[in-house]
Amino acid sequence: MIDSIAFLSMHTSPLLQPGSGDAGGMNVYIDELSRTMAARGVRADVYTRRIDPDDPEVVEVVPGYRVFHVDAGPASPLPVAALPKHVRLFARQVEALLRLDPPQIIHSHYWLSGWAGLLVKRSLGIPLANSFHTLGRVKDESRRPGEPPESLLRIAAEHEVIEGSDCVMASTPIEAQELLEFYGADPNRLCTSPPGVDHRLFRPGSKNRARQRLGLAAGAVVLFVGRIQPIKGVDVAVEAMATIVDRHRDATLMVVGGPSGPRGLSEMSALRRRAVELGLAAKIRFVGPVPHGLVPDLYRAADVVMVPSRSESFGLVAAEAQACGTPVVATRIGGLTDVVDDGSTGFLIDGWDPEDHAEAVLRFLDDPELAAKMGASAVKWSRRFSWDATFRRYIELYKGALGLS
Ligand code: UDP
Repeated sequence: MIDSIAFLSMHTSPLLQPGSGDAGGMNVYIDELSRTMAARGVRADVYTRRIDPDDPEVVEVVPGYRVFHVDAGPASPLPVAALPKHVRLFARQVEALLRLDPPQIIHSHYWLSGWAGLLVKRSLGIPLANSFHTLGRVKDESRRPGEPPESLLRIAAEHEVIEGSDCVMASTPIEAQELLEFYGADPNRLCTSPPGVDHRLFRPGSKNRARQRLGLAAGAVVLFVGRIQPIKGVDVAVEAMATIVDRHRDATLMVVGGPSGPRGLSEMSALRRRAVELGLAAKIRFVGPVPHGLVPDLYRAADVVMVPSRSESFGLVAAEAQACGTPVVATRIGGLTDVVDDGSTGFLIDGWDPEDHAEAVLRFLDDPELAAKMGASAVKWSRRFSWDATFRRYIELYKGALGLS
């Protein structure tokens, strides 16, 4: 029986608003999984680095789900690049807390926490599972020209975590394949489980009422939701709008999310500049980050959601949009190839040519019946992703790692 888990999420807290800075899909993932675990009687304690001196030691989110703020480095937000030197201290602090009340298993998230998890596992002997969420070598493969590669430290730490974990978690078979190919992961310790979608929140609803609530004018709505950084391919959506407005003069692109990572701010400025150069300043709305609970209305209001990412281990946005009945146009890469059923719930596009993405978007804008039909298929398809299913799968995987199954 599994009754207690420690999640390590050193670089970002599930209590943060997703959609800017370092907070995104991983935060939603840890929060949803912890809530589901607590609701099913499994104690979920999340350990994250303190970024504000006023953060309480412990926050009880709901009974059975707590977030611990751990002192490691200055109590202020730090860029990811500044965090490696605080990993050992973070691990020592977590170790001291876990020693008092050991969980059955540690599940770390991202390479930094994986590294900390490995240190804790070595000193306390608690089994370790790690989810990477993104992999340095995979990101390097999709780098745009001129962008710096991932640090050698990250790649080395990823190798070490993969070798030292009892269970390496992948979100999709493609991520599992990447772990095998790029890192030589041991297939016997490789486990696959997709994340879920909160179907109580992300469910279909009236497009008109959603638009009224959001105060949107009439006209086609194309939506991008996510952190603004080069890897998310927002530039592809902006360029695609030039073609889209040629045929649909009333179309608007809504860009929801804020700058993230070392190139987030420069990417945001470049996107705004490009919108002006293309004469699309009035057609592209940079909305900024939106609280997670308000995101469903954006999906419902949209005619199509674009996910033109250059790398994506899963792609929660695509799954959430589909759960709301909105078809998706996404790049044929990574987890998106699992999340979108090409030709049935959306279209997968090879490469990042804005014309190709625009043409797929136009198929939906030109033919609302097609959009409605594929939106309905998307709702059915999205039911395969649920946090309850993820929870059950994880419990089986944890039992395997503990030799209980
Ligand atoms: N999100 C949000 N508000 C925003 C932008 C994004 O709540 O303003 C959420 C979105 O609903 C999704 C997550 O952030 O749950 C992004 O996850 P995804 O897997 O698509 O991208 P990641 O951040 O993991 O790269």
